Amino acid sequence: MKKKVAILGATGSIGTSALDILRLGKDDFEPVLFSSHRNLDGLLALSKEFPAAALVYSSGEKNFDRENGYLGKKGLLRAIEECGADIVLNGIAGAPGLEPSLAALKAGADLALANKETIVMASPLVFALAEKHGSRVIPVDSEHSAIFNLLEAHGRDKALELLLTASGGPFRTWSEKDLKTIGPQEALNHPTWNMGPKITIDSATLANKGLEVIEAAFLFEVTPDQIKVIIHPQSVVHSMVRLRDGAVYAQLSKPDMRFPIHNALYYPEHRSCSIDLLDFDHLVLEFEKPDDKKFPMLPLAYKAVREGGLYPAVYNAANEVAVNGFLKGKIAFVDIPRIVEYVMNNNWSGKKLSQADFLSERALDHILENDKLARRLAENYILELNG
Ligand code: MG
Repeated sequence: MKKKVAILGATGSIGTSALDILRLGKDDFEPVLFSSHRNLDGLLALSKEFPAAALVYSSGEKNFDRENGYLGKKGLLRAIEECGADIVLNGIAGAPGLEPSLAALKAGADLALANKETIVMASPLVFALAEKHGSRVIPVDSEHSAIFNLLEAHGRDKALELLLTASGGPFRTWSEKDLKTIGPQEALNHPTWNMGPKITIDSATLANKGLEVIEAAFLFEVTPDQIKVIIHPQSVVHSMVRLRDGAVYAQLSKPDMRFPIHNALYYPEHRSCSIDLLDFDHLVLEFEKPDDKKFPMLPLAYKAVREGGLYPAVYNAANEVAVNGFLKGKIAFVDIPRIVEYVMNNNWSGKKLSQADFLSERALDHILENDKLARRLAENYILELNG
């Protein structure tokens, strides 16, 4: 029987890679739902190729009236509930990915998660829902996919620490002085991965790695001290685990998101995958230590995990606003961590949100209220910086 698959963010970078896997696995997968936030033409093109799948146009900006079509955020949540997917791949960018993830878990579908904000903002809620509805959370982020597979192969109880690799972004070797001059266009040129604008800027500031540290701590239930970030410019080693016996195991492939997506969509099966295999003939691998002083988004993420409560959610919200401000030319590249630090140190109500609060009826409201508040604080600080 074919696996029924829903792809959220189908016209984005993750979605496009996922479609390749669906095309290669025609006999294995039945697409039942595609969503796109803004790309209506892309969505309609998909419906020509896969006419049976429901379509969601989640921004609802243009007229969209068709059979098996859904509109807006409410339409997206309803479509996830009704589509009968066995697995939902969430490739939505940023905080808007949270509620669709929760909807997928509530529908009893497995969640192939490329939206790290789901875990960063609400991990206790996510895992409680997964357990209640018998769904699995399968990471798609390349680092977490690597660690997930390595821990499965070697046994979680044998792991001492997780070694998370980071490309270091395009400004890894720049001086502190030069970092002040970076404009959006330079920051949008990522050396190894081809991704959407938000995650590309996050790679340049190391906020993406910060979010991944938070994600790894929650996904694999380890302390922040058990997670080390290692700069690895080639992005070929996707991550490593050090076992208690001292041995380090790594997962390698070309930097191509189709590998982790293939793994997640077939999980728990391991199927052969013939896309673009790694060639060792001319391979050079380098590793170095991240520079916390030049890239403060990384230590701020460690602080967010250590503080707990909604610190990770607030870190994420403030960063989203700061990145947006940078892309619009309102602030400098080096202002991004300043804004996030300012917001984290400011007053908001969810600082001490306990595990029990996370599981209460009001949990999602708490999270979204603090998310909103953090965004407002960040917006105001941007105005202050400009004033
Ligand atoms: Mg990643």
